[in-house]
Amino acid sequence: MDFKSKIRVVEDFPVKGISFKDITTLLQDGEAYAAAIKEMAAMVETLEFDVVVGPEARGFLTGAPLSILTKTGFVPIRKPGKLPYDTIQHAYELEYGTDTLEIHADAIQEGMKVLVVDDLLATGGTSKAVCELIEKLGGEVAGLAFLIELDFLGGRALLDGYNVKSLVHYN
Ligand code: IMP
Repeated sequence: MDFKSKIRVVEDFPVKGISFKDITTLLQDGEAYAAAIKEMAAMVETLEFDVVVGPEARGFLTGAPLSILTKTGFVPIRKPGKLPYDTIQHAYELEYGTDTLEIHADAIQEGMKVLVVDDLLATGGTSKAVCELIEKLGGEVAGLAFLIELDFLGGRALLDGYNVKSLVHYN
C-alpha cells in the first residue's frame, strides 16, 4: 500500500518551517491502519521480544495494536505525573529546554527483551530516552520500529547500535 498517500503533510505546524506528518488521516482509514500495523509486524518478524513499549501519545496508537498482533504485552511511557504506581524517570534534552518521561518501575524485568514503537523517528531524542528507561530497569532493547522516519534529521545516528526499522521514509 502507498502509505504516503494516506499521511497528510501540514506545513508550518506546530511552528513555521516544520512540515508535520499527520497520521490521523491514515488512522481513520481502517484498511490503511490495519495494513500499516500488519506491515510493521512483518518488519519486526526477525526480532525476538517479550513486550512492546510505546511513548505517549502516538506511540500508543502504533505500539498497542502491534503488541496485540504479535501477542506480546504493552507498556506505556508517559509524561510525569500520569502513571499511578512507582515510577522511574529520565530527563532528556530538547532543542530548547528538557523533557521528562516516566515508566512504571515494575513494568520491565531484568533481561526482558523489549521492542520500542513510536509513530515517527525525527531527531531520535524521544526514542533514546525510552531506551534509557528500559535499560535502567535491566531490559534489553531488541529493536525500534517506527511508522515514519524523517531520514534528513539523522535520528538513526543517535540510535547507533540499536536495530532501527521504519515503514515509510521522508528524505
Ligand atoms: P524526536 O524525539 O525528535 O525523534 O521526535 C519524535 C517524537 O516527536 C515522536 O514521538 C513524534 O510523535 C513527534 N513528532 C515529531 N515530528 C513529528 C511529525 O512531523 N509528525 C508527527 N509527530 C512528530
